[in-house]
Amino acid sequence: MPMTTRFAPSPTGRLHLGHAASAIRAHDVARAAGGAFLVRIEDIDPGRSRPEHVDTILADLRWLGLDWDGPVLHQSTRLSVYAAALDRLRAADLVYPCTCTRAEIAAEIAASATAPHGIAPIYPGTCRIRAPDPARAAAWRLRMDRAIAVAGPLDWHDITAGRVIAAPGPQGDVVLARRDAPASYHLAVTIDDADQGVTDVIRGVDLFDATHVHRLLQALLGLPTPRYHHHPLLTGPDGRRLAKRDGAPALADLRLAGADGTALAADLRATLCPLAAPGGTPSLP
Ligand code: GLU
Repeated sequence: MPMTTRFAPSPTGRLHLGHAASAIRAHDVARAAGGAFLVRIEDIDPGRSRPEHVDTILADLRWLGLDWDGPVLHQSTRLSVYAAALDRLRAADLVYPCTCTRAEIAAEIAASATAPHGIAPIYPGTCRIRAPDPARAAAWRLRMDRAIAVAGPLDWHDITAGRVIAAPGPQGDVVLARRDAPASYHLAVTIDDADQGVTDVIRGVDLFDATHVHRLLQALLGLPTPRYHHHPLLTGPDGRRLAKRDGAPALADLRLAGADGTALAADLRATLCPLAAPGGTPSLP
């Protein structure tokens, strides 16, 4: 199968240099292998996605000199596909409805206070026991322990980390369908990577933990497992991550100020540390 990579931004804001570096990696790895590079807009969050960001994102990618194959896939057009997958998980009794509010979950966690120090608290499983409130819209959560038991031992190959044993358990009963959207990030991204034939998922190391959940969902839904490349995140001179919330310059600001996007992409390529390929051979210049 020809190598297929993707860049999958959420149109909840404008792209910054860290996004550019990730997109360049995914683009260049595919092109070096004679493969395909896809762009997918992850716009399933109705509260945070903005159509105007989509146009800006695509203009930014063109400005960087990145070209992609085929039409851009918008996750908002795929809601029935995600709903069908959720139906399968529901039929297998691997998900349950949850009507807890954020405040209720926070209060429950604070009251139990059993989470070991330094470990992010997980959903305490309230709606496993109580009947969900019929007056409220429900989210759907994965029954993590049962899902792990059904799937059995799993691993995946990470270009940087090598063979990784999937260990999604510590993330608890993750949300697979939100009360305001028929899919969560975990469900939509896992299904789309499979349906689009993505062979190599190239994304920031901040999403490494999510891959434990994605590997489990692949097993439950009978989907193939791509290779993963979790790359380091770009940091600023102060060592802090270049993210939207840190006030890093948006690509659109640079573009509209007349900066040369292909020159910027060349500069970024020169600073990207190579991803270690199996056997230690760098797979990026
Ligand atoms: N849509 C996600 C984001 O913008 C990235 C998804 C992924 O690469 O798996 O953070």
